[in-house]
Amino acid sequence: MNQANTHSRRTFAIISHPDAGKTTLTEKLLLTGGAIHLAGEVKARGQARRARSDWMKIEQQRGISVTSSVMTFERTGANGETITFNLLDTPGHEDFSEDTYRTLTAVDSAIMVIDAAKGIEPQTRKLFEVCRLRSVPIITFINKVDREGRDPFELIDEVADMLALDVVPMSWPAGMGGLFEGIWSLESHRLSQPEGEAKEYLGNAQAFDGLDDPELAETLSADALEKLQEEAGLAAEAYSDFDVEAYRAGDLTPVYFGSALKNFGVEELIEAIATHAPPPRPQPAEPTEIAPDGKDVTGFIFKVQANMDPQHRDRIAFMRLCSGTFKRGMKLTPSGHGKPIAVHSPIMFFAQDREIADTALPGDIIGIPNHGTLRVGDTLSEKNDVRITGLPNFAPEILRRVALKDPTKTKQLRKALDDLSEEGVIQVFYPEIGGQWIVGVVGQLQLDVLVSRLSAEYKVEAMLEAAPFETARWISGEDSVLDSFARISQANLAKDRDGNLVFLAKSTWDVGYQEERNPEIAFKATRER
Ligand code: GDP
Repeated sequence: MNQANTHSRRTFAIISHPDAGKTTLTEKLLLTGGAIHLAGEVKARGQARRARSDWMKIEQQRGISVTSSVMTFERTGANGETITFNLLDTPGHEDFSEDTYRTLTAVDSAIMVIDAAKGIEPQTRKLFEVCRLRSVPIITFINKVDREGRDPFELIDEVADMLALDVVPMSWPAGMGGLFEGIWSLESHRLSQPEGEAKEYLGNAQAFDGLDDPELAETLSADALEKLQEEAGLAAEAYSDFDVEAYRAGDLTPVYFGSALKNFGVEELIEAIATHAPPPRPQPAEPTEIAPDGKDVTGFIFKVQANMDPQHRDRIAFMRLCSGTFKRGMKLTPSGHGKPIAVHSPIMFFAQDREIADTALPGDIIGIPNHGTLRVGDTLSEKNDVRITGLPNFAPEILRRVALKDPTKTKQLRKALDDLSEEGVIQVFYPEIGGQWIVGVVGQLQLDVLVSRLSAEYKVEAMLEAAPFETARWISGEDSVLDSFARISQANLAKDRDGNLVFLAKSTWDVGYQEERNPEIAFKATRER
């Protein structure tokens, strides 16, 4: 495998709270990336047209919309090599789900978008914690500086304190809101300024000799310059220099200010991902970890998208390639059941278009159409000799009791719940006492999907009722300790699909309380599949 190729991928996601500007930033990244790529696109058009129509046929036949699950763009790096960016979507609003978390297991880095007026919000924090599990490096983007926001120091310090990260500002806003006059790059001493009626950044950043450059005084208002000089001086004293190793270890986050809407900071983000973000990282696996430049093809499934049309059992499994050069038609064996499958019509993603992939490299994502053979967490490999580890289940945040309209359908319900939990749609818990099973999800939409798929695919009419629990933790410890815990807490204990012991908690407060009272028991919010 050509090392330059393995190193050319940047597979990343954007984490944020709804409304912070993820969609706007995604569009701007694609636009900026796409514009850079324009020349190459023209050449590839004939090929792309064929590929696009192939894919549209698949999309129509299967009724699966995978638009924007993976977005790819390219640009030429500093030393002339082409860098391919794979941006994985993390569903955030109503469609927030375990998939959102799992997508973060398939990226090598992330951009954390924060609203300058709001700071760190709950969903950002949750997603950050998932990144932390695998030490995923984070670049911070403080968005919406074209509007009134909080003090830059306060925002940076909030990131440092709430997330326990080292922070290094890489750029600084010259004012915010009505006083906004541009973004100053602390690295390159370039100033990007608002232009035209829309007060947008149009790509004409100007380089200066530093903040004392007399020309800067002609460019910025006296007030803005004085404030910028003072703040940038303070920032240089207060924070350490950028250290790429600490960033890649997930200990430090570079912070950029900008406005996705007005295009500020977008170029810097692409540049930062290209130069600092890690190329595909080694993947934890049994018997040994998988090096991205290994020869054999390996990958894992991090998401399965079902058909919206109940007539079809078709699914698209999203595979993250970890090593080797994948070629269309290749035979790969899923770890789940050992029978090789030939991947004839994989789907690759290119900006707004989807094309049929001929080859893919480590870091790339391919969509594999299948009839339910591929499950979340499966490893796919040429020789069926490895198993990728470290892909967790996440503690559900919504729990519901499942009630049957027709009690004679218990067996079908159990099969359906086992299937759907294996597929990663829901998690299921079988309480130690009482007959009513409990399902757990991360987002509300998953519950609607569950009810409609039970009905359409399994002919089971079910109702979801309030459960007296709010969250769940996988518990482990010595048998004797667990036995005595079980005696007092039996009403809160259940088994998951694989027979692992689970503590169902009334609240997260209850989890903390039980942890304190039972120091010999580990309460875990994730479980490796
Ligand atoms: P998402 O929910 O995180 O995907 O957020 P969106 O990208 O949909 O943005 C939410 C709202 O904030 C929309 O009305 C955007 O136009 C607006 N918005 C996003 N970025 C900016 C920005 O940089 N400045 C301003 N003023 N508004 C922004």
